[in-house]
Amino acid sequence: MARLRRLLPAALCLLLAAAGYRLTDGRAVPAEGTIRYVAFDVPAAALSRALEADVRTEGEIDWVDLLAALACRYGGDWSNYRQTDLDAAVAERERGQNTAEQSAYYAYYRAAYGAVLDGLVGDFSEQQTDGAGNLVWNRQYGLKAFCPIAAGFCYSESDDFGAARSYGYRRRHLGHDMMGLTGTPIVAVESGTVAVLGWNQYGGWRVGIRSDDGRRYWYYAHLRQNRPYAAGLAEGQRVRAGDVIGYMGRTGYSATENVSNLVTPHLHIGLELIFDESQFESDNEIWVNLYPLMQVLARHTCETVRAADGEHTRRYAFEEGTA
Ligand SMILES: [Zn+2]
Repeated sequence: MARLRRLLPAALCLLLAAAGYRLTDGRAVPAEGTIRYVAFDVPAAALSRALEADVRTEGEIDWVDLLAALACRYGGDWSNYRQTDLDAAVAERERGQNTAEQSAYYAYYRAAYGAVLDGLVGDFSEQQTDGAGNLVWNRQYGLKAFCPIAAGFCYSESDDFGAARSYGYRRRHLGHDMMGLTGTPIVAVESGTVAVLGWNQYGGWRVGIRSDDGRRYWYYAHLRQNRPYAAGLAEGQRVRAGDVIGYMGRTGYSATENVSNLVTPHLHIGLELIFDESQFESDNEIWVNLYPLMQVLARHTCETVRAADGEHTRRYAFEEGTA
């Protein structure tokens, strides 16, 4: 028994280390260095409210700081979320304070949530048509990431992250499914570089795009049979947020290329976080639930136009930054 008691703390330390924590004075605090686990379960209502404060103050109040502060308050359990708590955190920021920064967990939540959200808000310019029908540039600060489903195309979705999947082997669903019609244009959520493109037994025709800061790998799968990708899309190519990258389909669940073995056409979109290059395409991948974020991105959709050959391209030019 005494031996068991001696062994228990060691076992606990190992478990904590695996989850990215260390034991200090009997408390689990996030370990310095690489984050190995992220549960991104911030509700859409909290994301929206924090984003509003960020946009209203043009970044003076950072939405990720706010969400990290609330995560500390809730011990990471967002089932306790109340809008009044977020509003109080905003008021504190407006007074130039951030008491949550004193929490041992703040750095962890700021880094974890920042890996998901940091690239999605900022300065950008987008063309639009003025009253006289001329194209004009509209410069703004706000949500620059796009909903992956092009504007005007219907889709349905549910919170299906973590649901059981049985094709191949029993596993958890590490992404988010958006059901729609075959041929629906799919646009890049965020700017980045095409890292992976081609056939995968599970994902069918799929494309993976790495964010410019390297922390996010966006994975778009089950694209259309025969003509899955936007014309000319290739590995190593740079894409902008809102660029058409491919078309919805139901390919996959086959070792043979170009087979549509899924019943319902849908986009499977996944987001993998990469804090350390060894995590990419490893047994320790960190995939996060995109359902709440998709509720927020639904308000920023990209208009596309269809050419005679069936190819869709974005209607309005888009530039990131203040230039
Ligand atoms: Zn899926």
